[in-house]
Amino acid sequence: MSQFTRKSNEGFAWTPHQATNGLFTAAVTDSTPDLKDDYDVVVIGAGFSGLVAARDISRHARVLLLDARDRIGGRTWTASVFGEELEMGGTWVHWNQPHVYTEIHRYGLQKNLKISTGAVAGDAVYYNHAGNAKKMNPQEFDDRSNAVTDAFFNIDGLKLQDYLPRPHEPLRHPELYAKYDKLSVQDRLDQLEFSDEDKSFMATLAGGFGLSHPRDVGFMEAANWFALVGGTNPGINEHCSKYKLGEGGTTSLARAIFEDFSGDFASNSIVAKIFQSSAEVMITLKDGRAIHSRYCVSTIPLNVLKKVDFDPPLSQLKREASDIGMVTLGSKYHFQFSDKQPPFFAGASPQSAFGFSFSDHDTPSGQTLAIGFGNTGHVKEFRNAQEVIGSYQKLFPHRINLQGYAIHDWRTDPFAESAWCTFRPSFASKYLKSLQESHGRRLFMASADWADGWRGFIDGAIEQGTRNAVSVIGLLRKGEESRARL
Ligand SMILES: Cc1cc2nc3c(=O)[nH]c(=O)nc-3n(C[C@H](O)[C@H](O)[C@H](O)COP(=O)(O)OP(=O)(O)OC[C@H]3O[C@@H](n4cnc5c(N)ncnc54)[C@H](O)[C@@H]3O)c2cc1C
Repeated sequence: MSQFTRKSNEGFAWTPHQATNGLFTAAVTDSTPDLKDDYDVVVIGAGFSGLVAARDISRHARVLLLDARDRIGGRTWTASVFGEELEMGGTWVHWNQPHVYTEIHRYGLQKNLKISTGAVAGDAVYYNHAGNAKKMNPQEFDDRSNAVTDAFFNIDGLKLQDYLPRPHEPLRHPELYAKYDKLSVQDRLDQLEFSDEDKSFMATLAGGFGLSHPRDVGFMEAANWFALVGGTNPGINEHCSKYKLGEGGTTSLARAIFEDFSGDFASNSIVAKIFQSSAEVMITLKDGRAIHSRYCVSTIPLNVLKKVDFDPPLSQLKREASDIGMVTLGSKYHFQFSDKQPPFFAGASPQSAFGFSFSDHDTPSGQTLAIGFGNTGHVKEFRNAQEVIGSYQKLFPHRINLQGYAIHDWRTDPFAESAWCTFRPSFASKYLKSLQESHGRRLFMASADWADGWRGFIDGAIEQGTRNAVSVIGLLRKGEESRARL
């Protein structure tokens, strides 16, 4: 891990001996010296949407890529903690995620894919229903969860494939989409006749998508994820929690794209205002610097769009969407056990502080590292080890011994204010199309938060970066042609 030589301001790690703010990573990136105040295109945000957009456009024009942070990668970055590579945000990828796998393959990183142990037929399943944690037979847990899942998605005599036949084109049948988008995960569970415990399994899976109570997560959000993976629980495990990049992690992919980008880069550059006239875009940073460009691609996430002053203002629908925001305000923790655990999955009913957890890998000295997902609004202070560990313990029927944890608290992160994107009921039918639209002729909006396919994933970020780059490159070409005609 020799490349993890620089410390970001971000991330937190706790051990009984030390609390550390700021973690080592290969994602920290300096600004290009001698930045200009005029570019063809400015790309705001060096997450995966912005990295890909900047790389593609830089083949045709002079580009500035800027980010508020001291590093690249946005909500996806790899830190070195406890001698291990830990993913602080986005983690799992799959070859059935077309955009991200194209990029992984383009840079030859597919050889580095490795497996998280808990996603593969865990030896142990623990479940806490209504405050009582117990050990379950993994087969029984699977059978009962699968039965609820099948019933959950078969609605009004329609199968998932009938109402979401092409999940990369979610609004293909807008009326049908809107009809079921009104439902929350909880509404749909209430329509089913299963035991409370069986419904709780589904609530963990589907509510877990939003790290939220199932009443706050749209039924069609769950439907979208399942439609992308063939409609089954094993499909979800296979695509969303099994394969991740080793040898530098997701940051190795971010770096590969960044190194293939030929423009300028500015870190620690917080955009405060975006002004657009018929002739240009002017971006004003919080520190007063102004940058001019012909076009701009903003990748500012949904929950923080409202913090930027747009002139002219964003459309009513875009503003409303950012005010309402997405629901995933929970957190992802890495826990280091003092000993070796069997590969496990642990889950809990939605009123619990931690929704679910699974083992990831063992260290060479035999300690298990696991990932735990905290539900929205529960653990109040991620630096309070007693509160964090006490809450995590409740997932298990037996006493666990931990010797450390690490977290990036995305909820309080000023440039995200959320983890991955999950929408509330009716949100996609009302706002998705509008969020995807450009703002005026010169400002393009790209984000995983409003992707068509793997919305809320790295894949969705790349989908959006790629598509918006195509639009900008088209306009740049048109401009060149009209200049040539003059
Ligand atoms: C805990 C967690 C777990 C996840 N797990 C997975 C997973 O397993 N698999 C998966 O595929 N995806 C996962 N995701 C989702 C995935 O990481 C995101 O969907 C994706 O990285 C978002 O990319 P983006 O480029 O659209 O946005 P971002 O990565 O958020 O990039 C936007 C950039 O804009 C910058 N910015 C914001 N405001 C300003 C401003 N005012 N001025 C300048 N810059 C600004 C930010 O600093 C940021 O770098 C996870 C995310 C989290 C947080």
